[in-house]
Amino acid sequence: MGHGADFLGRLWGGGAGDQASRRAEMLDRLRRGGVHDERVLAAMADVPREAFVIEGDELEAYADRALSIGHGQTISQPLMVGVIVQALQLQPGERVLDVGTGSGYQAAVIAACAGRVVSVERIEELAWSARARLDRMGIDVEVVAADGSAGLDGRGPFDAIAVGAAAPRPPLSLIRALADGGRLVVPVTVGDEGERLLRIRRQGRHCEMEDLGPCRFVRLVGREGY
Ligand code: SAH
Repeated sequence: MGHGADFLGRLWGGGAGDQASRRAEMLDRLRRGGVHDERVLAAMADVPREAFVIEGDELEAYADRALSIGHGQTISQPLMVGVIVQALQLQPGERVLDVGTGSGYQAAVIAACAGRVVSVERIEELAWSARARLDRMGIDVEVVAADGSAGLDGRGPFDAIAVGAAAPRPPLSLIRALADGGRLVVPVTVGDEGERLLRIRRQGRHCEMEDLGPCRFVRLVGREGY
């Protein structure tokens, strides 16, 4: 029969070299898509995305799209992760809340750019498997199984909050959980325009909001979600 190395490579999710070149292509697409922050690019070059997709999808891990992770949820498209993490304008040592752990991929990228990361996921099974995966990989993220749409009681303030699911309106409790100078990056459904990625920056008692462009996410479900 004599199946060649290519067959075995496909069977095991692609040879390491193939994954490295897929990852390099993803980085090119990120740059073309407007991700220029070298720390974000380095983090996404470092974190093996194939370890965050469901078994059998490893060859698709670096494709330019979201992939199913079960429970009707997805691991976000690489470009969206890059755009969100860049928009957080993270500094080393900052405290970050990641809402919607999913696979844990975005939390891992954030952890590579910041200090303490808490990630919250409402679907318990996803929270458990993300926690186990991140632990196994030695990535320092605290995963909490809860509704994070209104923040986490007793936690915060946070220097940055990333939301990986679309909210019906900017979640007020998350804005309140920001430290002075803190940034909230959240996809919000805006009438007929569909989902827009917003960055809300807290400055003292004021906040300023920027529209970072169109996006597409699964729904944020919960107290300040749908
Ligand atoms: N960024 C993730 C993917 C996020 S998909 C990754 O890199 O894999 C969005 C996730 O948000 C889903 O897993 C969904 O269950 C979760 N979610 C939706 N509403 C939530 C809420 N209120 N609190 C916490 N997690 C929520």
